[in-house]
Amino acid sequence: MSVRTRADLDQLPAYVAGRTVPGSIKLASNEVSEGPLPSAVAAINQAAGEVHRYPDMGVGRLTEALAAKYDVPAERIAVGCGSVALCEQLVQATCTADDEVVFPWRSFEAYPIITQVVGAKQVRVPLTGEHALDLAAMAAAITPATRLVFVCTPNNPTGTLLRRAELEAFLDRVPEDVLVVLDEAYFEFVTDPEAPDGVEIAKRRGNVASMRTFSKAYGLAGLRVGYTVAPVEVAAALRKVCIPFSVNALAQVAAIASLDAQDELRKRVANVVAERERVHRELVALGYEVPETQANFVWLPLGERTAEFNKHCLDNRVVVRAFAGDGARVTIGRPEENDAFLAAARSFRRSAR
Ligand code: PMP
Repeated sequence: MSVRTRADLDQLPAYVAGRTVPGSIKLASNEVSEGPLPSAVAAINQAAGEVHRYPDMGVGRLTEALAAKYDVPAERIAVGCGSVALCEQLVQATCTADDEVVFPWRSFEAYPIITQVVGAKQVRVPLTGEHALDLAAMAAAITPATRLVFVCTPNNPTGTLLRRAELEAFLDRVPEDVLVVLDEAYFEFVTDPEAPDGVEIAKRRGNVASMRTFSKAYGLAGLRVGYTVAPVEVAAALRKVCIPFSVNALAQVAAIASLDAQDELRKRVANVVAERERVHRELVALGYEVPETQANFVWLPLGERTAEFNKHCLDNRVVVRAFAGDGARVTIGRPEENDAFLAAARSFRRSAR
C-alpha cells in the first residue's frame, strides 16, 4: 500500500517553467537579460556573511521603504516570496471550499493552479478577439459566491493593457465585499499615459489590491520577492497565512537597494522599451499578428502552428515560451538576443510561404 495523496491533484496541471537550454538564448520567462541592478548586487554581497541568521520575519525595513515610496501606512503592505506566493496567500485569505475566483484566460498560468490547490472554484473568462481582458464578461461572471477577481495588466502572456477609464468602470460594478487584485507584475515597463496605476487605485478603493514584483524590471527573479498594497484587513490576513520566514534575507536587502536605485532602473527599462518597440515593429513587418504590448514580451497568436514555431526557434538556439495550440510568448532580451530571435522568426515566415 502506498501513501494516499489528494485524488484531485491528478487533474492539476503542472506549472510549466521556461526552459533553460545550454548554448541557447533564453527568452522564455520574462526575465531581464541585463541582470540585477548593480546596487542590488553590492547589497547582496554585503549581506551574504549574515545568512546563518533567520531573516526579519516581519520584513520591516523593506515594508517601511515601500510604505514611504507609495505614501501608504505600512499596515497596508504585505511582502511575499515572489508575487506568485502572494497570489496563493490572497486566495487562501479570501476563499474556502466552493468560493469562486474569477480570472481572465489566457492569463498567468498560476491562477487556475493556485485556485484548485486552495480548493476554491475557478471561473475563467475568455479574452476578447484582440487578446485583451474582457472586463464586461468578467463583471458578468461575478456571483454571490465570488470572493476574489484577478485582473492582470499588462496581461501575461498577451502583453495587452487596460486603460484607466475602462478599469474604473469595471471596478464600479464589483461588489464591495469582493477583492479585486490588480496583478501589475510588468508595471515598470508600461509607457501608455492612459495606463492605470494600481497603487493609486488601491489607495482610493476599499476592495482593491495592487500586486507588484522585484522579479521582472528589477531583475531579482532568482531571489523571490514581491509585494502588495492592499486593504489593511487583507494585508493582515496575508501575514497570517504566510509561511514563516518565506522572504529571505538576501531578497530583503536586494529589494531595498533596488528601490534606492531608480536611476539604474530607469535606464534599463528604457532599453527594454526601445527593444520592445523594435521587435514589435519588425515582427509586424514580417507579417505576424502581434498585439500591442506594454510588457517586456511579445505574444504571437500562432494557434495550431505554435509547436512548429517553437521547434523552429529551438533549432535556431532561441528558447521561447509556447502555449500549445494557442501562441508563443517571447521575452525582450538584449539587442543581439532579439536579433537572433528575429532571424528565426524571419526564416520561419519564409519557410511558411
Ligand atoms: N504575475 C504575473 C502576471 C506574472 O507573469 C508572474 C511571473 N511570471 C508573476 C505574477 C509571479 O512573479 P514572481 O512570483 O516572480 O513575483
